[in-house]
Amino acid sequence: MIHRLTLKRPDDMHLHLRDGAMLAAVAPESARDFARAIIMPNLVPPVATMAQAQAYRARILAALPHGTAFEPLMTLYLTETTDPADVAEAARSGVIKAVKLYPAGATTNSHGGVRDLDKVMPVLEKMAELGLPLCTHGEVTTPEVDIFDREAVFIDTVLDPLRRRLPDLRVVMEHITTQEGVAYAAQGGNLAATITTHHLILNRNHVLVGGIKPHYYCLPVAKREHHRLALRRAATSGNPAYFLGTDSAPHVDALKEHACGCAGCFTATNTLPLLAHVFEEEGALDRLEAFTSQNGAAFYHLALNTSQITLIKSPHPTVFPAKIQSEGGPVTVFDPGFAVHWQVQS
Ligand SMILES: [Zn+2]
Repeated sequence: MIHRLTLKRPDDMHLHLRDGAMLAAVAPESARDFARAIIMPNLVPPVATMAQAQAYRARILAALPHGTAFEPLMTLYLTETTDPADVAEAARSGVIKAVKLYPAGATTNSHGGVRDLDKVMPVLEKMAELGLPLCTHGEVTTPEVDIFDREAVFIDTVLDPLRRRLPDLRVVMEHITTQEGVAYAAQGGNLAATITTHHLILNRNHVLVGGIKPHYYCLPVAKREHHRLALRRAATSGNPAYFLGTDSAPHVDALKEHACGCAGCFTATNTLPLLAHVFEEEGALDRLEAFTSQNGAAFYHLALNTSQITLIKSPHPTVFPAKIQSEGGPVTVFDPGFAVHWQVQS
């Protein structure tokens, strides 16, 4: 049995760091274990221009503990007024690594997102030309479509037509949650998908049975068990089309435990031990490094990290902090609901 595992330091290819007091509270949690992260731009107002991305990057670096090597990889929030020339300059100068598509209203702070794809075609055409990835929040927001079907409908009615129209566009399907998402991303090439830690652990029963669990509520919402199992097979397959994007998304407890609770699981603190647990259950510890540290870097054309991280397994369950503190209040750390014996060696 393996008790010790050394990996290239992981990258988190989908992360919410927020801003201000919350940024100060959560940035050290990701920086402890990860080398780099693709930073989501859904602030208020959104990070929609090169200048905004540069300013946000500076605020992130200022929030990191002294001596941290963590590198934020910035993205722009695509709006119907995004200027293709600004995107091109931001990409060519290395300020951004991707552009994020939020269908308007799909999730936290997405009301400024895209309603009509035709309006952003000039930006997407420029991105295809540059090889700059489009990260998609892959859910339709049409009220008639059931929340559990929104990912599959997005693939059929938005993503696939878009990729046929612009075959050279590189696309990351963010936080896939369904068998359909797994199957569509499997074609690889200029298509890839991120998978979160919590979607490898939760199905919709965990969220809804025995009382609603606000800290398990996220978007896209967890689906049926067979979808969770498909995600596990994908993540542990070694297929380079799949890589880790935690979608760690902090909200203070007062906004999670609320009549209209916010969506998001905060997994930055304990993601790597949880993933080691999942991969061990699947008999795939030898493929954990591909998922956390190789496939994402390869898709984004980044050099692999040279620094390493070591996970150790102890006979005693690891005690993770239940909450981290922010100036606005406590943030609950994701609790998988089972004992985890892995920890990151400090
Ligand atoms: Zn997200």
